Amino acid sequence: MRIGLLPQILIAFISAIIFGIIFGQNMEVVQPLGDLFLRLIKFVIIPLIVSSLIVGVASTGNMETLGRIGGKTIFYYVATTLLAVTIGLISAFLFSPGKGVDISSTGEIPEATETGGVINVFLNIIPTNPIESLSSGNILQIIFFAIFIGVGITMVGEKAQPVYRFFEGLAEIMYKITWIIMKLIPFGVFGLLAPIIGQYGLSVLMPLIKLVAVVAFACIVHTLVTYSFAVKSFGSMNPLKFFKGIAPATLVAFSTQSSSGTLPVTIKCTEDNLGVSQRVSSFVLPLGATINMDGTSLYLSIAALFTAQAYGIELSFIQILTIVLIATLGSIGAAGVPGAGLVMLTLVLSAVNLPLEAIALIAGVDRFMDMFRTAVNITGDASAARVVQQSENKRNEASLEI
Ligand code: ASP
Repeated sequence: MRIGLLPQILIAFISAIIFGIIFGQNMEVVQPLGDLFLRLIKFVIIPLIVSSLIVGVASTGNMETLGRIGGKTIFYYVATTLLAVTIGLISAFLFSPGKGVDISSTGEIPEATETGGVINVFLNIIPTNPIESLSSGNILQIIFFAIFIGVGITMVGEKAQPVYRFFEGLAEIMYKITWIIMKLIPFGVFGLLAPIIGQYGLSVLMPLIKLVAVVAFACIVHTLVTYSFAVKSFGSMNPLKFFKGIAPATLVAFSTQSSSGTLPVTIKCTEDNLGVSQRVSSFVLPLGATINMDGTSLYLSIAALFTAQAYGIELSFIQILTIVLIATLGSIGAAGVPGAGLVMLTLVLSAVNLPLEAIALIAGVDRFMDMFRTAVNITGDASAARVVQQSENKRNEASLEI
């Protein structure tokens, strides 16, 4: 009897937790298995994004379509992020995870992040040397570069066809490689998750269990309510089918705590299981892995309220609004790598003058919250891909009827 990929991943997931709890630190022995998977999956990211985005844009044919898809995507991303922050704030008010927490911490406080101003953030999207962007893996710059190559191919026409066909072939190859690597997900999930559970264990979790539980709760509510509603109403898809289709990527995100690292699996699952075209997925998903982090934004708002509660600080309405704004911007600015949200927390806390020492406290359990928020982050990206795809389908049908 052959077991499907999803049940295999679920078995690996559950056994990783059980083995981690039973064997504790000893589970480090399986870490190389996790690292092997992580390296394999990371090596396809850049060539996969570049080739599929160039082909996607070139086959779109014009800037107008691209602008339309881009507009819808950004709108969806901002709207769902604001909803996530709201759900985060409501959960933190309802459950008060910071009340009665022992605030004497020992950990180190990370440095506050310097963003260099809003204008620079936007200017930085334009690469001065695209080869450098490729080699350093700067995804926003790569998206910018690939879009222009795609647009250029369309404008040049016949003469650029060899370049188009080259990237088309490369994209196919990268899809095949991703397909092979996906077979290893169960090993990867086990190898990544078991050592973390073993190393941190339940004793680390206990003092701040309420904070982790509230973040997990808000993540689950946002996923089940917001995404179910979005994919059903705007994506014309049964939410169960959606969650099942994206589950391999959600579980990889949970285990790797990296949206960027999960990207190849997210792309593959959305195209194979959610009926999203390469044109839409190659644009919406890399962008989402970099700027759309609903899980991170709700985590930031909960962590800020947690801090205020733990230190007995009363927040004003303006401060709460500031948290909403900075949590949203912070989630956009956070990189899709493990622990990025914790670094962004310095921004949120400093914006409303809350003690940065809280970060040392939160850092001890951040890994667990990172699992949940990253899983939400990529599920949100996939829901956007489905919704944008469906609205494009409707538009095409309408134009065929005319
Ligand atoms: N690890 C998250 C991600 O890759 C970012 C974060 O730390 O919140 O999506």
